[in-house]
Amino acid sequence: MRKETEKIKVFALGGVGEIGKNMYVIEVDSDIFVVDAGLMFPEEEMFGIDIVIPDITYLQENKERVKGIFLTHGHEDHIGGVSYVLRKLPVPVYGTRLTLALVEDKLSEAGLLGRVTLKTIDANSVLEFETAQVSFFRVTHSIPDAVGICVHTSQGSIVYTGDFKFDQTPVDVYGADIGKMAQIGNEGVLCLLSDSTNAERPGFTGSERSVGVEISKEFHNAEGRIIVASFASNVHRLQQVFDAAFENDRKVAVVGRSMVKVVDIARNLGYLHIPDDMLISLQDIDNYPECKIAVLTTGSQGEPMAALSRMAKNAHKQVAIRKGDTVIIAASPIPGNETSVSKTIDLLFRAGANVIYYGEKKIHVSGHASQEELKLMLNIMKPKYFIPVHGEFRMQKAHAKLASATGISPHRTFIVEKGEVIEFKEGRAKAGTKVQAGNVLIDGLGVGDVGNIVLRDRKLLSQDGILVVVITLSKEAKTIVSGPEIISRGFVYVRESEELIDGSARLVKEIIEQSIREYAIEWSTLKQNIRDSLSQFLFERTKRKPMILPIIMEI
Ligand SMILES: [Zn+2]
Ligand SMILES: [Zn+2]
Repeated sequence: MRKETEKIKVFALGGVGEIGKNMYVIEVDSDIFVVDAGLMFPEEEMFGIDIVIPDITYLQENKERVKGIFLTHGHEDHIGGVSYVLRKLPVPVYGTRLTLALVEDKLSEAGLLGRVTLKTIDANSVLEFETAQVSFFRVTHSIPDAVGICVHTSQGSIVYTGDFKFDQTPVDVYGADIGKMAQIGNEGVLCLLSDSTNAERPGFTGSERSVGVEISKEFHNAEGRIIVASFASNVHRLQQVFDAAFENDRKVAVVGRSMVKVVDIARNLGYLHIPDDMLISLQDIDNYPECKIAVLTTGSQGEPMAALSRMAKNAHKQVAIRKGDTVIIAASPIPGNETSVSKTIDLLFRAGANVIYYGEKKIHVSGHASQEELKLMLNIMKPKYFIPVHGEFRMQKAHAKLASATGISPHRTFIVEKGEVIEFKEGRAKAGTKVQAGNVLIDGLGVGDVGNIVLRDRKLLSQDGILVVVITLSKEAKTIVSGPEIISRGFVYVRESEELIDGSARLVKEIIEQSIREYAIEWSTLKQNIRDSLSQFLFERTKRKPMILPIIMEI
């Protein structure tokens, strides 16, 4: 029996109140266990931001106590932040084979490979730490090799499900390990953190196999070429595409950077089974009859630069969609991508393809548990306390309601915000002191240098553009040497707005001449005067408020 734990803290640095950048922290006395380190794609108002990761200030401040980062599976919202986090927090990373293979790829891109410790675990691994034991259990999800994590303490276990569903007929021979979950439940779960993504969806999530059946049907019916777009990471679905190709005696060409990468990694590790002579290169597809060809590609989200969109627009080097092609989009648009996906579907139809897509056909199932499966997890784990995670606020709320229906008192369910700590002492929970949490925005090479002020400026620029006013003054002679020159970007088209631009120049000139007469050439005041008067002048005439940037040069 390990020594009694005094205090346990559980909180989220990301993944609650949002879909994305999952990062949960379980602190057992002096040891800190970090679970997942994901990224999020920016929201619409985050202009120019490439990705968002969690604020890890708290972990940096307690660096020497962090025992490691424990990864549940290889999706971007769970591993996408790893290389950024490791730069600040060089701790060991634990994950299953496929998860770590995907992480390695990121680390090598970031130049970190070989400089960090990666420790491969499987569902049977048991890791002993001074304060707690960490073990894992197999779950079914839309990527192979996904696990849930259990931190055993003397007050009971803290269990995080990771992303999961209960698929009764999984494509993977290894389904969810319900027996092991039940054992964890019987031994006593102090607190359960569970996936809320589909908490609003009644019933059960469909089996991945049902998608395989549809894919197989389409392969059987198609007479011309077949192009399948899917999420690269959904290896089970890729397997079903290869199986359908095999049944119908078609060769497969793989296209798109992430698709090629995942097929390669998954095949090498034995998660994907493809006969050697089935894969052909894209250059060779025209050497085969159309009815013997399938192309597996990225772009299921309508990403304008991905292979599928380029094929649809006849902008892809090797493949242009033509009459007789069957295009299967084996994915549903993730929220926010609906418009770009419908545009791509339109383009594909225009190019003459027969397009099979979500909605009309059962060509996609979710990787996340629906309500009945979430209740099943709650009943298996029988937690004393419950924290719904991995979801927006309304999904957390819906999940809390399900928990209450299974008999967990609402007083024992915590809907937390990022950084809100739940503390456990002698088996009892209470709210603790909040820790720093939030978004770190990444734009190009800059990590965290773009803050609210920069974003506000980008928002203004995106709305009404910018007007730059350049003037050169001679301070000694007290005259305007050149200008004012007015430059517009995104505000008005200068050639068609001569009157407005001339009027602006005249106004600026008057303001400067007046301040020269009044001996009030103080740069900041002068600039402010120009901004205020010009802003008013332009608003009266255009009802627009461009950003105004006066540049005064002195000679
Ligand atoms: Zn996932
Ligand atoms: Zn996820």
